Amino acid sequence: MKPIQEIYPLLTEMRKIVITTHQKPDADAMGSSLAMYHFLKQFGHTVTVVSPTNWAKWIDWMPGSRQVIDFDMNNEKANEVLNSAEWLFCLDFNTFHRTKTMTERLKELKCTKILIDHHQEPDAVSFDYGISDAAKSSTCEMVYDIIVESGHAGRINEEIAECIYAGVVADTGSFRFASTTNKVHELVADLKSRGLNHAKVHDSLFDNFLENRLRFTGHVLLHRMQVFYEYNTVLIAIPKSDLLKFHVKTGDTEGLVNYPQSIQGIKLVAVVIDRDEERKWSFRSKGDFDCNTFARKYFDGGGHYNASGGKSNDPLDETVRKFKEAIKENQSLLQ
Ligand code: 5GP
Ligand code: MN
Repeated sequence: MKPIQEIYPLLTEMRKIVITTHQKPDADAMGSSLAMYHFLKQFGHTVTVVSPTNWAKWIDWMPGSRQVIDFDMNNEKANEVLNSAEWLFCLDFNTFHRTKTMTERLKELKCTKILIDHHQEPDAVSFDYGISDAAKSSTCEMVYDIIVESGHAGRINEEIAECIYAGVVADTGSFRFASTTNKVHELVADLKSRGLNHAKVHDSLFDNFLENRLRFTGHVLLHRMQVFYEYNTVLIAIPKSDLLKFHVKTGDTEGLVNYPQSIQGIKLVAVVIDRDEERKWSFRSKGDFDCNTFARKYFDGGGHYNASGGKSNDPLDETVRKFKEAIKENQSLLQ
């Protein structure tokens, strides 16, 4: 993988460009993709964002989201743009299998592939150019850096600023995680000076849900949360019946994993959701417990040091049993 800087001189040559991200894109995935979309369009490129799957309704406010093609839903159109792509930007993931049903399509594409990502252990040989930096708060921060470093800061308009800010806020837990460096705050100051309405973005991200989501959260915290004080761990296991009862949609479960972190002394929080296709795990830790290694070792996943995810094909009961064994094995690290 050659350094991302090598594409800067090529930005002014017209191309057909596709931008893609991981399945079920979150605010950083969609924000970085759309910020890049609005940036590249200014050069006159033909740019399309293709998402492997659908995304949460509350992300629809992002400027440009209506133009995004859902590979699952609109397969023919997505394949058409992928076939004619000269450049493929891969944002907020670093191995093709995080795009689920799009994986084989992306592998076989012959176009130039460019990685921009902040997760650990990138599959660097699969990309022609790129940057992978696990120290960065978010992929949105990396897109901002690229725009500025390539000499195009003047192109940051309101749309780009909103998309970047949304991803940074989401991936830093509203500026609380350790990844929030002075550079992140400087980025925000710069976006503000370019006209960012940050209150509007917060409103769109956090005060934009339906009643059922709040009631679902209350139900889950009361009835599905288990606290294991001997391991400083909280587990929330959500059966399919809860998802049906509260009409839970894509994205409604996001953020749930953050609530138990407010309990004094908790080091690890795990949420598992009984989805149709798999049992999906989310892990968050505080301090020196490595969620990335934990997710890789026990649940076929990965991510960051303090935030990771994984999956299991076992039934819910069985994957919960394995989790309990895993925290027992890790007891010394959790104290
Ligand atoms: P979340 O819990 O918000 O879904 O994911 C937390 C972090 O872990 C995100 O950065 C996400 O990209 C990563 N992640 C989630 N699930 C998986 C997975 O199955 N495999 C890998 N490698 N990373 C994951
Ligand atoms: Mn991210």
